[in-house]
Amino acid sequence: MLIAMMKPQQMDKENWSLGESWAIDASETTWTGTETAVKEQLVEEWDDETLVLGIETSCDETSAAVVRGGRDILSNVIASQTELHGEYGGIVPEVAARAHVEALTPALREALVRADATFWDLDAVAVTLGPGLIGSLLVGVAEAKAIAAVLDIPFVGVNHLEAHIYSNFLGNHDVKWPAVVLLISGGHTMLVHARGHGDYTILGGTLDDAAGEAFDKVARFLGLDYPGGPEIDRLSLLGDPEAVRFPRSMIGEPGFDVSYSGLKTSVINYVRKTESSGGTVNVADIAASFQQAVVDIEVAKTIAAVDHTMVESVFVCGGVAANSGLRTGLEQACLDRSIALHCPSIELCTDNAAMVASCGTALLRRGIYTSLDAAPDPNLPLL
Ligand code: ADP
Ligand code: MG
Repeated sequence: MLIAMMKPQQMDKENWSLGESWAIDASETTWTGTETAVKEQLVEEWDDETLVLGIETSCDETSAAVVRGGRDILSNVIASQTELHGEYGGIVPEVAARAHVEALTPALREALVRADATFWDLDAVAVTLGPGLIGSLLVGVAEAKAIAAVLDIPFVGVNHLEAHIYSNFLGNHDVKWPAVVLLISGGHTMLVHARGHGDYTILGGTLDDAAGEAFDKVARFLGLDYPGGPEIDRLSLLGDPEAVRFPRSMIGEPGFDVSYSGLKTSVINYVRKTESSGGTVNVADIAASFQQAVVDIEVAKTIAAVDHTMVESVFVCGGVAANSGLRTGLEQACLDRSIALHCPSIELCTDNAAMVASCGTALLRRGIYTSLDAAPDPNLPLL
């Protein structure tokens, strides 16, 4: 039987490049079992020059990145599968997993080339361990483990939600804990009191749909392209946010939970009612009015969380953090209270491997490593 793997000591660095497969006779190669041991390095060695390779394949973005010192992005290659899933109007898990298999190796090669680095320059490999789609997660985790084992460097599994928090540290040396984090994406919506690295309390979250999910469902109902969030954002600029007063569920209630299923249903009912009574539906007005309701809810809850925790910084992260209305609403609210608002660049809001590398670097600095036995967990919670 031929396999395409070698023991580290058999590797010929000069002749090895990504994409080539090494066919060797398995009868000559026996894994001793020590390969699952965690490779540790002294915490002090994780300085500002540390190079960490990040891999992200939890959902529908295949991404590989090289990050220096947890903050400086040397490369961040993102291969989006949006077009593949667009025709189905949502993510098809099997299609996503297969696309990751095809896209990951070229993405890794590109990430190293752009970073002007080789595998042998890397100090560690960080990968998203969960939450996400199991088939997709497996692709990245298997590749990350193989690289860590072959190069004999540390391997660290990262929580995707925690990685989103670290998108605020990338390229930004002024970011400081403690903070209220609004993590708002396609799969999650929560407010977190983050006191420091790994020191989190979840203040509240959605009781039903995530905000991004609500954006995508409303957009789909309105006949817009997938993913719906950016489409609604774009259309909102052409519409009147005051045109329809959709409900702001739970906005005045104590606590930090939110709910989006009622808002989504209100939009659907409004459109159906307008159409059945012979009226014309102005899609831009509906998009703008829906977006404004989400913005009002999230800004109100975020500011309530700031008052509750008495922090002086807000971090926003996750795909919906790219929303122009939300960014403007939070900017204004934070300005009014002299609170620092940190918002990653649009590219760093949605899934990417740079945030995984940054989070992985912070874990390694705290002496946290992951065994090569670790399995991906599709339901991995933040806490
Ligand atoms: P997840 O990790 O939960 O899969 P991401 O963090 O990649 O999701 O975010 C994807 C979500 O962000 C999608 O629901 C998408 O519609 C939403 N999104 C992206 N850009 C915008 C935007 N400009 N406005 C609102 N939602 C957006
Ligand atoms: Mg995400």
